[in-house]
Amino acid sequence: MTSYAARAVNLKQKLWPDIHKDAWSDYRWQLRNRLTGRKGLSRLLRHAGQPERLESLDKCLSAYKWAATPYYISLIEKDIDRDPVALQVIPSPEEIGPARPHSSPDPLSEKRYSPFPGLIHRYKDRAVVLVSNHCASYCRHCNRKRTWNRPEFVPAGKTAWQAVTEYLENHSQIREVLVSGGDPLLLPQKYLENILDLLTSVPNVEVLRIGTRLPVVLPMAITDKLCRMLKKYRPIWINTHFNHPAEITKEAQRACERLQMSGIPLSNQSVLLKGVNDDFKTIKNLCCNLQKIMVRPYYLFHCDFVKGTDHFRTDIRKGIDIMEKMWGDTGGMCIPRYVVDLPGGMGKARVMPSDLERLDQDVATFKTFEGRVIKLHLS
Ligand SMILES: *Cc1c(COP(=O)(O)O)cnc(C)c1O
Ligand code: SF4
Repeated sequence: MTSYAARAVNLKQKLWPDIHKDAWSDYRWQLRNRLTGRKGLSRLLRHAGQPERLESLDKCLSAYKWAATPYYISLIEKDIDRDPVALQVIPSPEEIGPARPHSSPDPLSEKRYSPFPGLIHRYKDRAVVLVSNHCASYCRHCNRKRTWNRPEFVPAGKTAWQAVTEYLENHSQIREVLVSGGDPLLLPQKYLENILDLLTSVPNVEVLRIGTRLPVVLPMAITDKLCRMLKKYRPIWINTHFNHPAEITKEAQRACERLQMSGIPLSNQSVLLKGVNDDFKTIKNLCCNLQKIMVRPYYLFHCDFVKGTDHFRTDIRKGIDIMEKMWGDTGGMCIPRYVVDLPGGMGKARVMPSDLERLDQDVATFKTFEGRVIKLHLS
């Protein structure tokens, strides 16, 4: 757990010097006081000691939205060029630099698997419903950044929602619905409640999963009132998105605890990001600290080939190496699955080192976690 006192660059002190702690812990204050647009970015860069960076960001600001909560900005501890939180939230000119040949706005071809906007049906038994294109803070590595300025990606109005339920009913093999976005938990509570009612009214929908980054970027929004509402929809799972141990604060821990105490299990999806978390020590720390707050590391994603995120992508061998070192160094509860979402909407693929070195007719040869070679006789 990091404490404010230990921070070298105290942006909270500089940007909101007189803020009362009650206002700070009120998510509505946090939302009203988000830094956003050119003006907000200019203020942030000035206080972070790099005002000259604004010049190079105009194009980026018009291409992609920018907003960040005071809370998330307060987690910046180091120089913004190398701080893991700053790198995730402060725009970079590289976002609009020449895209690599294999990058595209929608590399997972979500569009092809959308019978209509707002619903993605790629796998037989589960479908994604995009309920919002708004977020509390906009992650620069987001793989849906193409939707940020496009409200038409989200079903709006009665007819659109009717189409969603009809589709789910007509595809009775769909048993799990992933409520995603944008950030679903940022919607007005009553509106979200109506959506969850609608989804759970479909007889074949057995379980819901919500993807949210609020425990990371706006933990005070996980209120008791919200938890009481969510609890009604058990079985419901929540997947959150911690990428770095610096994001696991007391506030984040309390937000997770409120959800867990409401009977909602939490898992985490991280993205392997260059300069942010692409080393063994950081990922191990992240995963062990997640285990401490009872959030199960679920996936570690290789950064998708999304236009505007090329500068975050690392070598897949680096990811493999990290996973290789995790096994044997720490417990299975701390180890996520490393996956890459294949281009063209071909689905997720596991990139996992295996301990099975070879498999012959009668003998399986393994490498132990300490590097010894052991033969297992099969007959
Ligand atoms: C990732 C994803 C899912 C969920 O897959 P899990 O392996 O169950 O987490 C579902 N639909 C789409 C389109 C996805 O990209
Ligand atoms: S919270 Fe999720 S949807 Fe929103 S910007 Fe971040 S990664 Fe994208």
